[in-house]
Amino acid sequence: MTEVHKILVLPGDGIGPEVVAVAQTVMVAAAARFGVALAIDSALVGGCAIDATGQALPAATLAKAKAARAVLLGAVGGPRWDDLPTLERPERGLLGLRSELELFANLRPALLFEPLAHASSLKAELVAGLDILIVRELTGGIYFGEPRGIEVVNNERRGFNTYVYSEHEIERIARVAFELARKRGGRLCSVDKANVLEVTQLWREVVTAVAPDYPEVALSHMYVDNAGMQLVREPKQFDVIVTGNMFGDILSDVAAMLTGSLGMLPSASLAADGTGLFEPVHGSAPDITGQDKANPLATILSVAMLFRYSLAAPAAAVAIESAVNQALAEGLRTTDIEPVESAADIQRVGTRAMGARVLEIMEAQDA
Ligand code: NAD
Repeated sequence: MTEVHKILVLPGDGIGPEVVAVAQTVMVAAAARFGVALAIDSALVGGCAIDATGQALPAATLAKAKAARAVLLGAVGGPRWDDLPTLERPERGLLGLRSELELFANLRPALLFEPLAHASSLKAELVAGLDILIVRELTGGIYFGEPRGIEVVNNERRGFNTYVYSEHEIERIARVAFELARKRGGRLCSVDKANVLEVTQLWREVVTAVAPDYPEVALSHMYVDNAGMQLVREPKQFDVIVTGNMFGDILSDVAAMLTGSLGMLPSASLAADGTGLFEPVHGSAPDITGQDKANPLATILSVAMLFRYSLAAPAAAVAIESAVNQALAEGLRTTDIEPVESAADIQRVGTRAMGARVLEIMEAQDA
């Protein structure tokens, strides 16, 4: 009997519901075409959940998320909830999901679609064909280390955080990265600051100790300052990058900008058993909410990641990505990816029209 995969859809706030509605139609079509059986449910998270229940992550939503193989999320937050105390804000819904589902591996691809090569802040030839995957440890490191705080010492305030990783935390993220590198270009670069920080000396030792289990992957190491420089100097030298929480936070945003717009960037956060949360990198974009202006491609590409990483259906992922590429090649552009100079072959479209074209292209792939 075909396995039925439970998928939880969390549209969230702002443009979230608009981009998720479009991406969901693509998910349903791809599932049907590739014989993947889905049982799709939806729930509230973020500001809309606060309005309805008083909590950013209601117990009912968490229970559904825990039962699901994968969660597709739009975005949370907006000015309406900006005055709430930090612990009650919509973003707590997202942080709560990450920790409750133990999503320790954050995957951020920086993939440049050929038709958008000129939208990058780097020269087109430096980024044409760019395909990097940054694997960031998401639940440890300096963002969570204890002790932390601000205290008064000798009549002045002193702030402090703790950068800490245990061997098992390093080993499990290293294994995720090696596995991914094995299925991609076979190269893994581990980024640390082992010349200064003991915690990253341990990082380097543990990653190196895991390497013999993956003989087909070429492992290299790079200091984080150099990695930042190399990402803007010669980004195509990288295949998979693995690094800790803080370095990954910074480097994934640098890599993202190489590819142009926030509206194009998907992400995945995975647990040890392959369950995952898939979401666009962008936020709820209150400035364009409800205007059919949001680029749905980041969310559609998050659906491709969902098929690839949680449902082991890479063919469906490839079909979605190639349909996105074709829609761009045909000249379809939402406002965020419009070229600065007007070009005759560019067709300005809204959220729904972009989604409809991606769907049409996918259906035509069948023929
Ligand atoms: P944002 O990503 O929402 O928007 C930044 C700019 O990019 C805006 O001008 C917006 O119009 C544009 N933009 C974003 N996504 C787009 C898309 N798909 N298509 C076209 N243009 C797009 O970031 P912000 O303005 O700093 O934050 C707005 C709200 O979103 C805040 O409440 C913030 O806390 C929240 N936020 C949520 C997430 C999340 O849910 N993961 C991430 C970041 C920010």
